[in-house]
Amino acid sequence: MKDHYDIAVVGAGPAGMAAATVAAEHGAGVVLFDEQPLAGGQIYRALSRQTLADRDVLGPDYYHGEALITALQNGGAEHVADTTVWEVTPEREIGISSGGIARLLSADQVILATGAQERPFPVPGWTLAGAMSAGAAQVLLKSAGLAEPDAVFAGTGPLLYLVANQYLKAGIPIRAILDTTPGTNSLGALPHLPGALMGAAALLKGRRWITELRNAGIPFVNGVEHLKVTGDESVTGVEYAHRGAWHRIDTNRIFLHQGVVPNVNLAMATGCTHRWSDAQLCWHAVTDAWGESDMAGVAIAGDGAAINGARAAEYAGRITAYGALHRCARLDAQSRDRLAKPCRQALARERRGRAFLDRLFRPADQFRIPQDDSTIVCRCEEVTAARVRASVALGCIGPNQLKGFSRCGMGPCQGRMCGLTLSEIIAQSRKVPVGEVGALRLRPPVKPLMLGELAALAVPPEPEPGEH
Ligand SMILES: Cc1cc2nc3c(=O)[nH]c(=O)nc-3n(C[C@H](O)[C@H](O)[C@H](O)COP(=O)(O)OP(=O)(O)OC[C@H]3O[C@@H](n4cnc5c(N)ncnc54)[C@H](O)[C@@H]3O)c2cc1C
Repeated sequence: MKDHYDIAVVGAGPAGMAAATVAAEHGAGVVLFDEQPLAGGQIYRALSRQTLADRDVLGPDYYHGEALITALQNGGAEHVADTTVWEVTPEREIGISSGGIARLLSADQVILATGAQERPFPVPGWTLAGAMSAGAAQVLLKSAGLAEPDAVFAGTGPLLYLVANQYLKAGIPIRAILDTTPGTNSLGALPHLPGALMGAAALLKGRRWITELRNAGIPFVNGVEHLKVTGDESVTGVEYAHRGAWHRIDTNRIFLHQGVVPNVNLAMATGCTHRWSDAQLCWHAVTDAWGESDMAGVAIAGDGAAINGARAAEYAGRITAYGALHRCARLDAQSRDRLAKPCRQALARERRGRAFLDRLFRPADQFRIPQDDSTIVCRCEEVTAARVRASVALGCIGPNQLKGFSRCGMGPCQGRMCGLTLSEIIAQSRKVPVGEVGALRLRPPVKPLMLGELAALAVPPEPEPGEH
């Protein structure tokens, strides 16, 4: 690894792989960091070492990643796996950690392609052992071929139905599906239907997953209004309200999911401006047409900027790379615009159905803003909704003040699992828009870093033999 690159990319998902490949093709010195052992990101996780023999289980969308991974491997970008980026400064100094050793390097241009994470699902009992996210269940399946039989899937959004469908194809029994999509969402989504119909294939795919799950005889409950995961230390059941009545399923496994949101921690810690999106109920990075943020030379591509899906991430990655190549004088403006044009058209096609999906699978308020005050909001510091509301009553006006009141957001996850919930609870309590309340202020290191690693950065390297 060198001390300086033309372009450094963080995240080897579709956005980062496409960006790094394009940038290297144009002769730039490119490094691509990812904390995973293999390139692929969330969607194409473990693809190059997939052990599931039946390709039908993970489906054709998963194997689409093969071409991207091959192009990356055959291109000139240096892929540095198993490496966490814990800092990118506005001057584009990059802090990385790998195998317990931290290091600093720099780049003329940085592309953050840190992708998405699942939206927190703060219902009573969501922190019990045996309750996990549907995405985590999928990680087990993709990376180790492991699965938990007889789980209850609960929540809303395409990824929930996709993972359940992958379980079905793999022959893993599913106990029940509790769908929390509010019935009124369809009406709200209707005005966006014409756009979605132009990309009808995606809609039909989602419909097919649900039909297959129903046809397989898996109990499928629509319109779940409330949810409680029960148990003392681990899950013993799930209680849910449906049409005003409470029901219970005994289970020791529940997979929760209510959509994905941009993984913004690194971009926020760099200082890139973000705005609240009412449509996606999360923070979006403010970027220009080339993905560049308001921190010069720091661009953001893919789901890390705004949720648009894997194919869109790929096109956004390429567009962002063309922008970065131009800024480091490796591509003139005319070539940049010409090369980006087909990517922009493809990106626009991918985004046609997004407003419809966002509205159709908009998670209900009660699943984002806990009604039951005993619900844990910050998992790391075990802070409840009651404590957050009490802090607001005492005059706490935003998530950053809340750190002082309660240590919320100060644990190892650095607000990944509570940041959105905190901003929304405070906004609701203060009766102001979430944008006014703001987000947790993030500072490097954005991922856990050993003190020894940090201290070692200050120690000058041993001189080579013969050097003085
Ligand atoms: C758990 C999960 C599972 C998903 N599964 C699917 C699916 O099966 N099908 C589908 O269509 N969509 C899926 N999605 C949605 C999907 O993530 C995206 O649409 C698509 O992968 C986005 O591509 P991307 O390149 O923007 O980011 P991603 O694919 O998410 O890639 C981001 C990469 O950045 C890396 N990274 C992040 N931060 C750092 C850091 N600080 N240092 C080093 N590396 C870092 C991550 O390890 C990751 O590999 C999933 C989302 C989640 C959260």
